[in-house]
Amino acid sequence: MRLTALGTGTIALSAARACSGYLVEAGDVRLLLDCGNGVARRMAELALPWPAISHVALTHFHVDHHGDLPTLLFASKYGVLPPRSAPLDLIGPVGTGDLLGRLAAAYGTWVTDPGFPLRITEIAPGAPLTLSERVRLEAFAVPHTAESVAYSVTAGAHRLVYTGDTGYHPGLAEWATGCDVLLCECSLPAAMAIPEHMTPEQCGALADVAGPGRLVLTHLYPPVEDVDIHAAVAARFSGPLTVAHDGWRIDI
Ligand SMILES: [Zn+2]
Ligand SMILES: [Zn+2]
Repeated sequence: MRLTALGTGTIALSAARACSGYLVEAGDVRLLLDCGNGVARRMAELALPWPAISHVALTHFHVDHHGDLPTLLFASKYGVLPPRSAPLDLIGPVGTGDLLGRLAAAYGTWVTDPGFPLRITEIAPGAPLTLSERVRLEAFAVPHTAESVAYSVTAGAHRLVYTGDTGYHPGLAEWATGCDVLLCECSLPAAMAIPEHMTPEQCGALADVAGPGRLVLTHLYPPVEDVDIHAAVAARFSGPLTVAHDGWRIDI
């Protein structure tokens, strides 16, 4: 499977980093993990096949993780010729259906009835979804907002874990154990630590337990880029480390 980082930033608007979004391509599955502001634009910029996205999975309902979802739906309806006819699966935590209903109340019925089948699935932690013969998606509840989840994407023998937004949680490290890539939020420096987000030190501690093939850090607020992220992580985790940027990709 191929992972492309589309948005490695936060709601601290940045020229270099769009809000959260990651494309996972595995066989016929084109899964967009989060769809924050700027992600639709990044997909066009990177010449990625956005009209052929098969699944969108939201981690939680902060706008920096779904702000471009209406854009993607509207673009699929009016921005391609011929207009999309293939179904789109929208996956998210409990409340995703309500969120879409509220967006439809604001923008119009095209949000929930865009002219192609939009199938909404609210995923329960611990109950894996089969996306295709080879690809499975599983959620894990994380401490950020009430609904927040992390995702595990398994394609054949390979596994990607994306933390979404989360505070440090030992259970998450255990759940991620042995993954090939741990795509981990790294929001704030230790001096600004809060329970709802992670510091580089905590990312290192998480990876020390999970033992991923590679730790990939993302969701960086500007102050965390002023500290030595590599040194803070390396004191706890000695495996391969990448600080992601928009457009970064890896074959897993
Ligand atoms: Zn966020
Ligand atoms: Zn958030």
